[in-house]
Amino acid sequence: MSVTMKCRHCRQSMGVIEDENRVYELLGQQPLALDIVQLNDDGETFVQLVCEHCEEILTQNPNLFENDTFIH
Ligand SMILES: [Zn+2]
Repeated sequence: MSVTMKCRHCRQSMGVIEDENRVYELLGQQPLALDIVQLNDDGETFVQLVCEHCEEILTQNPNLFENDTFIH
């Protein structure tokens, strides 16, 4: 099953990984335990991550971590 990676903040697609086990390897743990995996009605799996752009913003504005989403 392929897994689509998306930024949890700006919803930007960060690419698709064809093998979901590869995603677990990258994350170093089972994403189901991280509460960042979503399954839509089409059976597609999404993993919510933080893109480089948002990570940079969050590093400069740590208080934004309090908000789940923001628009930049
Ligand atoms: Zn982002």
